Amino acid sequence: MLFAHDTECSLIAAAALVNTAGRDGELLPDVAALDAFFTRHGYTGRHERTDAELRAVQELRPRLRRIWYAEPAEIVAVVNGLLREHRALPQLIEHDDEPYHLHAVPRDAPLATRIAVEAAMAIADLVRAGELSRLRICEYPDCANVVVDLSRNRSRRFCEAGCGNRAAVTAYRARRAAGRS
Ligand SMILES: [Zn+2]
Ligand SMILES: [Zn+2]
Repeated sequence: MLFAHDTECSLIAAAALVNTAGRDGELLPDVAALDAFFTRHGYTGRHERTDAELRAVQELRPRLRRIWYAEPAEIVAVVNGLLREHRALPQLIEHDDEPYHLHAVPRDAPLATRIAVEAAMAIADLVRAGELSRLRICEYPDCANVVVDLSRNRSRRFCEAGCGNRAAVTAYRARRAAGRS
């Protein structure tokens, strides 16, 4: 593990959220889809299952996506802005069999707020560790999905939406074509 467990989980969740408005279109179209996202990424605490909550989470996506494209100074501004806006107050807590980890807003804060603050806290860790290069854009042609590279050897190039397989197939076909000519 490169970073604290909660940092890695938050980074993965933030990237997954950004990519719900990515190469495959709208992947968070309704409350049921948000439910599935909530469960998949191990969220606990307040979850209203309302359209308003869904919209708030959807509207967070462009703001988080910006982090993947921005220069460090702007990333710092976004992170500080999110933490300030939501009055983040880091506290170590344990719950649901999870070891001590940081929460910076109460568990009954709105879901979009908690996702935003957790993402900001996790990105803050990357900034402090000098590891912003872990945030990348998928290298597959025309895929603009975001990638968090948590591999030890920084080898991750493609997003989770199958681009790694697509790239392997393309490379295989190119090799075969070259072999025939
Ligand atoms: Zn927690
Ligand atoms: Zn991709």
